[in-house]
Amino acid sequence: MLDYRLDEETEALRTVVRQFAREVVAPQIGEFYERDEFPTAIVRQMGELGLFGLPFPEEYGGSGGTYFDLCVAIEELARVDSSVAITLEAGVSLGAMPIFRFGTEEQKRRWLPRLCSGEALAAFGLTEAGGGSDAGATRTTARLDGDSWVIDGSKTFITNSGTDLTELVTVTAVTGTTADGGKEISAIAVPSGTPGFTVGKRYSKVGWNASDTRELAFADVHVPAENLVGERGRGYAQFLSILDEGRIAISALSVGLAQGCVDESVTYARQREAFGRPIGANQAIQFMIADMEVRASTARLAYYRAAERMLRGEPFKREASIAKLYSSEVAMDNARYATQVHGGYGFMNETPVGRFYRDAKVLEIGEGTSEVQRMLIARDLGVG
Ligand SMILES: Cc1cc2nc3c(=O)[nH]c(=O)nc-3n(C[C@H](O)[C@H](O)[C@H](O)COP(=O)(O)OP(=O)(O)OC[C@H]3O[C@@H](n4cnc5c(N)ncnc54)[C@H](O)[C@@H]3O)c2cc1C
Repeated sequence: MLDYRLDEETEALRTVVRQFAREVVAPQIGEFYERDEFPTAIVRQMGELGLFGLPFPEEYGGSGGTYFDLCVAIEELARVDSSVAITLEAGVSLGAMPIFRFGTEEQKRRWLPRLCSGEALAAFGLTEAGGGSDAGATRTTARLDGDSWVIDGSKTFITNSGTDLTELVTVTAVTGTTADGGKEISAIAVPSGTPGFTVGKRYSKVGWNASDTRELAFADVHVPAENLVGERGRGYAQFLSILDEGRIAISALSVGLAQGCVDESVTYARQREAFGRPIGANQAIQFMIADMEVRASTARLAYYRAAERMLRGEPFKREASIAKLYSSEVAMDNARYATQVHGGYGFMNETPVGRFYRDAKVLEIGEGTSEVQRMLIARDLGVG
């Protein structure tokens, strides 16, 4: 049986988030973007809507939905703006999810309710200056000293790590040596404000300008031994599995941006006149818009398929990589076409497509570059 129609509840969620994106986000996000400012009040409203608790059980403050619900919400936000969409994606899929999947009961009860309500945000610290794609190149260390982990090192490009709402960053650190002489990597939760944990200033970025991305430094940072998230030595494997899921969410975000390009282009092609008629009367413009729609809708199927396998409990690694790779490239292509349809106005920051153009590129980089996705797909096919 094949059925990609959404059930009533998911359709209702899509409608609510679409309305929120259009009525609350769209009118004000451009100014935050221009000021390079994190939109704390909008993110709190997203929390009040229940978006941060979507895939978590009610007993931890969530709404008992699925990871696919989260993806649908991310897609609808990204159709209007990617900064708020990545704030949700990173907050839930990277920030709260490691606690939910691998944390102890005590850690879940302590942190998840505030993360689910959006009163607090968590971040995921894997990347370091010396290793993004090569995430196992971690140099940050943590050693047990009595009842504490003592952490030293740094992380780069960490989303949601320094907002007014941030309460927690889960980081990977080398905690010893494995039996075969390799690095033993574990995940440890570091609450914001812990002495010795410094959050750098926001990076100046090409896109996602209303999202929060920072460098983190750890100098003799002491956290309780019970802040270990999951098993000692399993941190790297845990984070990789979190990234497998995250790729489906980044695919949804890419599809949202690609669809937003269609929305804006259809409106503009109808109203903008050149040579005495709407530009949409020209087949060249019609074909660009038709191609954009083809790409957005096929990319959506790719993330639906990956999410479906994940929800069924079937292997989904390859499908998640395919969805992420394809839809991020679709987002780039659509952003280029949409800008072309808008002519000079498309190059202005005040238009949504100006933001789409700047926001699309990072989708081919974050949570595994396009080259890393191709490596994973080839490896899954038994090559390399
Ligand atoms: C805005 C933003 C937000 C981010 N948020 C987070 C976050 O919240 N948490 C976090 O941990 N990280 C985060 N990252 C980091 C992100 O995941 C990395 O930037 C990404 O994985 C790429 O790593 P890198 O930048 O070190 O590039 P590199 O790994 O140095 O790659 C450089 C180039 O080399 C290619 N390359 C590398 N190895 C190979 C290979 N074996 N074969 C072929 N090509 C190869 C890459 O594909 C790329 O084209 C964020 C990044 C950005 C830009």
